[in-house]
Formats: sequence, structure tokens, C-alpha cells
Amino acid sequence: MSPTRIPLTILAGFLGSGKTTLLNNILRADHGVRIAVLVNDFGAINIDSQLIVGVEGDTISLSNGCICCSIRGDLIEATEKLLARPDLPEYIIIETSGVSDPAQVAHTFTHTALARRVRLDSVLTVIDAEQIGTLKDEHALLALDQVGIADIVIVNKVDLVNDDERAAVRAWIHEISPRARILETTYGDVPMPLVLGVGAFDPARLDTRTPREVHVHGGEAHDHDHPHDHTLVFSTWYWQSEQPVSLKALKRLVNDLPESIYRAKGVFHLADQPDKRAVFQMVGKRASLVLTDGGWGDAVPHSQVVVIAAHDGFAPDALQAQFEACLAANAHPSELEKITGGVMNWLRGRR
Ligand SMILES: [Zn+2]
Repeated sequence: MSPTRIPLTILAGFLGSGKTTLLNNILRADHGVRIAVLVNDFGAINIDSQLIVGVEGDTISLSNGCICCSIRGDLIEATEKLLARPDLPEYIIIETSGVSDPAQVAHTFTHTALARRVRLDSVLTVIDAEQIGTLKDEHALLALDQVGIADIVIVNKVDLVNDDERAAVRAWIHEISPRARILETTYGDVPMPLVLGVGAFDPARLDTRTPREVHVHGGEAHDHDHPHDHTLVFSTWYWQSEQPVSLKALKRLVNDLPESIYRAKGVFHLADQPDKRAVFQMVGKRASLVLTDGGWGDAVPHSQVVVIAAHDGFAPDALQAQFEACLAANAHPSELEKITGGVMNWLRGRR
């Protein structure tokens, strides 16, 4: 007896490329497909799973490690549990952490007993059109692996680059992954038939990977292999509090974060707009705060933020003190400020 295999898409892409936004577009779309989602955040708290729309219980969160290496066993276990449910999902999407190598994740579904139950449909890699050319060393290698195995490359945030830069990104992708379909988007807005159920994955490719040393983006050749535990390449830290935060102090803190902190994301309970949940995103020099319509629902208003940096790229005690200083109780009361129009985008370092 061999039940129908459930199609599975691996959603990959470097830190801050826009995977969760794309995932939300997929989940919101009017396709009528019952999708189960496994989300990997390699920090100790899973921010992405809190930002995903959809039915409670259909999102399974895998935190505190990387599913391609340090918590690969958790991925297998979570998938097995999903497949043991009486109400089987019709489709599975795995959102990998920004530091995962999707080939290793794909391997988990093609070279284990899970291959009898799921069918890997495609590997979808999201890249940030502006950020991709700025990645260096270990980060550049990881981005290269993520694009190298992709069936579909979503070039996101194309509104942030000019035509020449856009063409250069396309040429770079084409060189690394000649058969990948390239889709250009802003805010992860893509037609669903182009990304779900496309049947593009060919398992044979896992055994014939492009040697990455040939293609390193603008860097010198690397003939060593990178560490296999991605939690050793990046450091992560988080802060949380139920007390409201001063927006002005928070912005100042974000502007002052060291360059080694590459990515930060979270939700904030703002002193002057306590009923709204403010979703915070920071990628390189770009930062944003967006107020969500639903407010807090049943949750107690709180702040939770995760930062991701190069290994040992920050001093935890200093960060702790900086965030504590943002609490409205510790900030100057005249400094209260609101997010007007519900959205605030800014470039860090500019006052
Ligand atoms: Zn990993």
C-alpha cells in the first residue's frame, strides 16, 4: 500500500530576503489547498512562526538550531508527526532558516524513509536584489548554495535596485543555476501557479552540485569546506519584555547597532500605541516597523526581538542594557512618538 505522496516545497533564502512575506502571500492566496507549514528559526524564539498568517496548529515551529544541520532530527520527527495526523495536509511548505543549505534539507526528503510519503516539488530560493551583491565570505558561500540548488529563484525587492544591478543579479543567477526559473518581485508578490505544484525538482541534481569555488561572488577562491553546523557560523541573541518600549529610544538603538549584526526581527509593544502590535524588520542598513491590524488578539502585549550576527558579532551584556534602556519607564517621557500611517521605513545610521 503506497498512499499518494504529499507535495512539498522548500522555501530557502538568506537572512532577510523575504521568505516569510512570500509564505504569507502563498497562505493567503485563494487556492483552497490545505497547507501545513514547518518554520525554522535558528534563534531560541521563533519570530517567523508568529508572523505567519493562517490556522493555528497548521504551523509547526522548529527553533533553536538549523534544520539542515544541528536540528535535522527535529525536522524528520516533525514531518513524521504531520504525516501521522488523521487530517493529512494536502501540501507541505518548509521555510528554512536564513542560514540553512536547502540541499541538505532536500536530502532529508529524498534519501530517507520520508521519500515514500512526500514528493519534493521544488526548491524555491528568495534573494534580496539589493543585498545579494554585498554578502561576503561564509555568507556569500551560503547564498551561493541556496541559489545553486534552486528550481525557482525569486529575486525580491527589485524596486531597490536599478536596471543594471537587476541585470547583473540575473546574470549571476544564470551562471550558478542555468536551469532555474527567475521571477522578479517586490514584497514576494508572485502568481501561485508559478511557485506551487510546479514539479520542478530533479533528485539527481543533489548528487551533481556545481563546485561553488568557481562561482564565489566577487571574492577569492575558497577550496575549504564551510563548517557543517551553521549555528557555529552565526550568533544569535534575543530580548523580550512585557513592558512598553519608547519608539524614539528604539530607533536610536537600531541606528547604533554594530555592523556585525546583520539581521534583526521581532514584535514590539510601543508605549504610545499599546493596542497595536508593531512588527520590526532589519536587514543590513534597512529597518522598518509596521503596525498590524489585528492588534494582540488573546496575547499579552509584549516585545520580542531576535538578532543574528556573524559569529561572536556582539556583546550580549551591552545589548541587554541597550534594550532595557528602551523601555518607556527608563526613557524620557517627552520622547514618546507614534508611527504615523502604520508604517515606518528608514535607513540606519541616519538621524
Ligand atoms: Zn544548517
